[in-house]
Amino acid sequence: MSQSAPVLLLIDANPDDVRLIRGELANAKHDDYDIQVAETLANSLERIRLGGLSVILMDLVLPDTQGIAAFLRVYPKAGNVPIIVLVDQKDEDLGQLAVEKGALDYLVKQQIVSNLLVKSLRYATDRTHTLIALKASEAKYRELFQNVTAGVFQTSIDGKFLSANPAMVRLLGYESEEELLGLDIAKDVYMYPDSRENWAKTVQEQGEIRNSELVLRKRDGTKIVVLENARAVRSQTGDIMYYQGALTDITEAHEQSKKLSYDASHDALTGLVNRREFEIRVERVIEANKANTAEYAVCYLDLDKFKIINDNCGHVAGDELLRQLGAVLQARIRQGDTIARLGGDEFGVLLNHCPLENAIQVSKNLLRTIKEFKFVWDQRYFTLGVSIGLVPIDESFNSVSDVLSAADAACYTAKDRGRNRLHIYEPDDKELGHYRGEIQWAAKVKKALRNDEFTLDVQPIVPVMPAASNHLYLEVLVRMMDENGRQIPPGAFLPTVERYNLMGNLDYWVIEHTLKAFSENPKLLANIARVFINISRDSLQNSDFPNIVADLLREGRLPPHKLCFEITEAAAMSNLTKANQTINAIRELGCRFALDDFGTGVSSFAYLKALNVDYLKIDGAHIRDLADDKGDFEIVKAITHVGHALGREVIAESVESKRVLEALKEIGVDFVQGYTIAPPHNIRQIGSPPSPESVQSD
Ligand code: GH3
Ligand code: MG
Repeated sequence: MSQSAPVLLLIDANPDDVRLIRGELANAKHDDYDIQVAETLANSLERIRLGGLSVILMDLVLPDTQGIAAFLRVYPKAGNVPIIVLVDQKDEDLGQLAVEKGALDYLVKQQIVSNLLVKSLRYATDRTHTLIALKASEAKYRELFQNVTAGVFQTSIDGKFLSANPAMVRLLGYESEEELLGLDIAKDVYMYPDSRENWAKTVQEQGEIRNSELVLRKRDGTKIVVLENARAVRSQTGDIMYYQGALTDITEAHEQSKKLSYDASHDALTGLVNRREFEIRVERVIEANKANTAEYAVCYLDLDKFKIINDNCGHVAGDELLRQLGAVLQARIRQGDTIARLGGDEFGVLLNHCPLENAIQVSKNLLRTIKEFKFVWDQRYFTLGVSIGLVPIDESFNSVSDVLSAADAACYTAKDRGRNRLHIYEPDDKELGHYRGEIQWAAKVKKALRNDEFTLDVQPIVPVMPAASNHLYLEVLVRMMDENGRQIPPGAFLPTVERYNLMGNLDYWVIEHTLKAFSENPKLLANIARVFINISRDSLQNSDFPNIVADLLREGRLPPHKLCFEITEAAAMSNLTKANQTINAIRELGCRFALDDFGTGVSSFAYLKALNVDYLKIDGAHIRDLADDKGDFEIVKAITHVGHALGREVIAESVESKRVLEALKEIGVDFVQGYTIAPPHNIRQIGSPPSPESVQSD
């Protein structure tokens, strides 16, 4: 007998029966049963307990019990093992009764023939295997159901749980399956109750839901995001009986991906929307604009002289300023509008449903907000300016880059016209943008330096009190020409010059050619009282610069005391000691110094005291609105007062109106400079000294 032979337990006290069965099985071809005999009920139960049976064949007449009772004692213990009962012909009813009670079949002893017996037994053992396999898979399923990390559930059509595995219970933050069974799923488990209805609709229509994201509510009310697969289980007639499915907690992954998409659309420093997201929103507006007539506008903001903060207080301070300013601007923007950090010190604002007049008003408010914003660092106050370009989005713009380059160009025009102002886009601005972006500036500047392609303009600085002599005070302004002989605004090429460290070279060119212009023009030389030349941080921080100036002065004919170098606060303050060494060395040559852009950014009087200069030039930002702005009036008054007390002469820039001029006279500044008082002209055209009275009334 092979080890795998099916075990047949023959429960029979009658040796004739046992013989009969053995004989019939032996007659049959398939007699490969391991026949084990139990003669009493007690022995039978004992044997059943040991297991390993394939089929039980039992006589219902046993010494210790008879009839259906014998079957009923064996049946519950037999488990999966099928039972065939043996009955006498006269007891056939008993056989039928046993089948009703759970026996697989009955055989009438008198009718037993080998074929029938074998068939019956085969059927029984096959069934055993199927049953065992079924039970095993059920057990496996049970185990899976109990132990998988995914939540597995069955729910009824009316939205109740029918079953839930431990993972499902845990996932929803409950203690037991029973607790879940009592819930109203739509109300208690869905974060948004309506979505249960949509869910059921989808499962009903499509039969299943695959990898769908769902937001559920845990017992404590917190949100959980799950990925779900579910299907409708139907009856044979096609009616839905219940739903079943499995879900996995993906809250963390979801948060992660939300964070990633947040990171991709937001600026890490300020938390504002970034350039990429801003462009997406502008794009939407351009599309919407094609469909309706709503009005939109974009503002492009670039802080003025932001580098001063970095230079004086370090990058960390610069970052902090950007962060604070971002929050201040955000608070100023309507909910439907977008404020973005576009990069560096540039911000963008997208104004939705905003006619131009309103957009101008909003831009002016932003300008004022930034002007009034005070940044405190190391117990010092800093104020800022901003240049804003405003573009109303109309049909002429087809793409985001059209709109943004127009806004950028308008912002640049605002810078070029003196900063701290708003400029509404005009198509001409593009020219400026074109110069900035598309040309290889570094190469062009180098070529211009080599080939003397720069020209020099001068702008008069006019004494407020009628001058005793008709001597001129002139500031030298460098100009660059394009291939068509048109002037390229300095705002277009100076940033490149700075970026490529060519400022020192440009300074040299300007000084050399200014001195040359004077040397070649005796009339100019005779008329000049003082010529002001701007020099960069590069020169000021270069210890060789005094020697360079000395050499140039020796070659030219301009007396050193008639030459005054303008330096900015920013250029000096990045290294005050070195700046002072340069200033003092050049002063020894006889030249003078002016402190330019005074009053922007840092503008601490302590610095004014530390720098050995002769003139103080108050930045246009404080001058322009002086007549109407009490704050500016007081600031300029204070600067003038302190300047005078320290022995500096005071020059006001950007004087554009009679009222401002009157106010400056009242304050007592020494000089004024401005386009309407005296515009720049080429260095070779000598005019008579202008009077401040030439300025027109407003
Ligand atoms: P302008 O008036 O012409 O705008 O001069 P600016 O000093 O503001 O300089 P500009 O706008 O040309 O350049 C912005 C500078 O801001 C360049 C860089 O030194 C600085 N910057 C750019 N990004 C950051 C940043 O993330 N943090 C800090 N602290 N500084 C930055
Ligand atoms: Mg800037």
